[in-house]
Amino acid sequence: MPYAAILSLEEVRDTRRRAEIRNRLHDRIDQWLDSLEARVKEPQPTLEQLTQAVFALRQELTQAVTESLVEQRHQAVVEQRTAVCQQCGQTLSTRGPQERTVETLVGAIRLRRPYFYCERCQLGTAPLDELLQVTARRKQPDVQRAAVKLTKEVPYETACELFAELTGLPLSVHTAHAVTQAVAEGLTVLDVTPSRQEILTKITAVAAGQPWRPILVLAIDGADVPTRPETAKGRRPGRKKVRAKRARWTGEWREAKGFRFYLIADDRIVQVLSWHQVQTDEEAAEALRQVKAAGVIPEEEVRLCVIADGARWIWKQAQTLFPSAVEIVDYYHCSEHVHKVAALQYGAHPERQREWCEAALARLFWGEVHGVIWGLQRMQPTDAHAAEAIGKLIRYLQRHQERVDYRFARKGGYPMGSGGIESANKFICHVRLKRSGAWWYVTHANQMLALRCAKDHGTFDRVFERYRQRIQDRSG
Ligand SMILES: [Zn+2]
Repeated sequence: MPYAAILSLEEVRDTRRRAEIRNRLHDRIDQWLDSLEARVKEPQPTLEQLTQAVFALRQELTQAVTESLVEQRHQAVVEQRTAVCQQCGQTLSTRGPQERTVETLVGAIRLRRPYFYCERCQLGTAPLDELLQVTARRKQPDVQRAAVKLTKEVPYETACELFAELTGLPLSVHTAHAVTQAVAEGLTVLDVTPSRQEILTKITAVAAGQPWRPILVLAIDGADVPTRPETAKGRRPGRKKVRAKRARWTGEWREAKGFRFYLIADDRIVQVLSWHQVQTDEEAAEALRQVKAAGVIPEEEVRLCVIADGARWIWKQAQTLFPSAVEIVDYYHCSEHVHKVAALQYGAHPERQREWCEAALARLFWGEVHGVIWGLQRMQPTDAHAAEAIGKLIRYLQRHQERVDYRFARKGGYPMGSGGIESANKFICHVRLKRSGAWWYVTHANQMLALRCAKDHGTFDRVFERYRQRIQDRSG
């Protein structure tokens, strides 16, 4: 059945407005093409000369297109003359178009939009901003996200340089700091923890085609972070111009304690969850308890194995939280103790020192811890220091008898050491935090560590979304 082409007055007006907007855009694009042509002076330009010209001017084009889209898609709101106060219900009339510029990854976008203000409630609103979900800071979330992706990898100055070069947008070190801190503010272990389903997916991938459940290692260790005291910030809070003076404080190396879950695949390890902070043993233990309580670790799908040094808090926690896990004292930590005894007992005879050390380590490697203890008990200490070290090693081996059964570990396919966590420490802590001359406030170090942990196991996007939600709520 044929329909008559009847257009309402409204539709005609819409179509006409749309055409106007598009014509204005065409004009801007024409101007843009003119400036582009003017920029390429060479009679026979290379491709690089052409793309450089386009690259340099690209934002003027993308800005124009975006502004035009905003105008076209939100016409009604852009032309809105009255609004109702959300608090008192009074009808407000517009205070005329006000301009606001926001920075996005496609350039600085100029928004000309009506603004309403209720005198009675002292409440101002720009409906277009709400509709577009524009946030308070001039730099919009897409810009902030890109900035933090850089600051969590490289020093702030480098991040700002790279950012400006890649995006054509300015980024000050001050803003880079502020945004990074805002994104990482208040992050806890559960904010960066992947979901149970995400972890299950990784387990399934590693388990594919294997007869045994895959090994999930929980490694616990620490790494040193260069910190500066809070007092370095200057006495009076709020005075930004008071810079930290080097002479007033001394840097201190502090331990970022943490844990890391990773899967052992054939020839590699798969990150599952890591959490490192400059914190106390108790805080680290609490974070581990939270992970356990959140139920994200599918223990029945894996063979869980805990690797750590001899620290007591770790084993206490491990036994409470994961009683069925296989426990392994890191072979390298263990061998340090053996080396110490060898040096104190046989220091005068390098040959004997090496022989004894190698023999003891070989026996441990083959699971003969009792033999090593037996030998130590029969040793005649050369002096009091040696006697003390021997006694210590005996107690250490007795306490951890089952945890130093490296033969058992190897037979089960378990790792003997936490090479995994050592590389994690390097990757998470050292690469970004250890820089000559860089001393971190503990708060900022921990924020950076949290962001890097999130990145390490793929939850950075979620962390950013959490931040975005927060600033959205604040501006709405
Ligand atoms: Zn009002």
